[in-house]
Amino acid sequence: MSRFWSELTASLVPYVPGEQPKDQRYIKLNTNENPYPPSPKVIEALRHAANADLRLYPDPSCDALRETVASYYGLGKEQIFVGNGSDEILAFAFPAFFTAAKPILFPDVTYTFYPVYAQLYGLSYETVPTDERFVIDPQRYGAHNGGVVLPNPNAPTARLLSIHGIKQILDANSDQVVIIDEAYIDFGGQSAIPLIADYPNLLVVQTLSKSRSLAGLRVGLAMGHPDLIEGLNRIKNSFNSYTLDRLALAGAIASFEDQAYFEETNRKIQATRERTTEALAGIGFEVIESQANFVFATCPRRSAQELFAELKKRGILVRYFNKPRIDQYLRISIGTDEEMDALLDALGQILAEA
Ligand code: PMP
Repeated sequence: MSRFWSELTASLVPYVPGEQPKDQRYIKLNTNENPYPPSPKVIEALRHAANADLRLYPDPSCDALRETVASYYGLGKEQIFVGNGSDEILAFAFPAFFTAAKPILFPDVTYTFYPVYAQLYGLSYETVPTDERFVIDPQRYGAHNGGVVLPNPNAPTARLLSIHGIKQILDANSDQVVIIDEAYIDFGGQSAIPLIADYPNLLVVQTLSKSRSLAGLRVGLAMGHPDLIEGLNRIKNSFNSYTLDRLALAGAIASFEDQAYFEETNRKIQATRERTTEALAGIGFEVIESQANFVFATCPRRSAQELFAELKKRGILVRYFNKPRIDQYLRISIGTDEEMDALLDALGQILAEA
């Protein structure tokens, strides 16, 4: 590599995703995937699309999916933007709405992609402290900044901010864009989508990767005032004219058409989360209140890094972050009841050995 490139790339700090080891079959509780398959109607739609249309280019404006999402949420089609996962949408949103002149605000403990994007696009940012239990204080997201990005529920803490709190942030930032990243909103939270009607500065970002079991299809959504959507379209069009492929479009539409399956799997995940939270507390963990499909937990009796390593030896992957403030916590995705039983058994054994 030339010196120019090595110096340039050395300054880029990449996002470090959850590991995907291939050395053995693991119980995977480390990347917040859904343990259940997508709706059978999605599989049927994928099969149909594969048989029917793959020789043809997809619709570059993704009209059918945008219409489906618009009617699902009671919005207009011009208020919907779709992308290859919400990560791609965030990658468009950062340069579309933020600048280097004033800092973007996000919580000190949050989705680690945000500082990566800010750095990549040369944007300034500041982190806002959360309290010792990771509670977000909306009053700290005041003016004089260049925008706000907030996951709700937050990741990896699983903490939900109330709609009242979100309104406070939107009111204090009426001249800049506030992005609410609702990757985990369907597991018990209340979406900010109804606020779009009153707040032209609000962009809500969602994904089909978690509550709709479609991480492998890569579909994300953004919803907001048509002017914000137009901003995203301009950035997108400078990269590529096609957004989603035909399979992703067909699968995503079918997912929105099977509400019963969506509700049933989300209900199961929430019930498993509550049971897991109680059981973890029963063996000495402190668990942060979660409205997501994962829990964030610490065990005063054993270091998180050791617990992570011991679980991995036993074929169970959870997420450990070697970072200040959260290095005593494990983030554990909610799997099936059987998977969580295996986790709890393993933790019980590990702690008994200590
Ligand atoms: N936002 C948050 C807060 C997330 O945790 C994730 C998943 N890691 C994403 C966005 C991205 O999800 P996807 O690109 O699969 O839509």
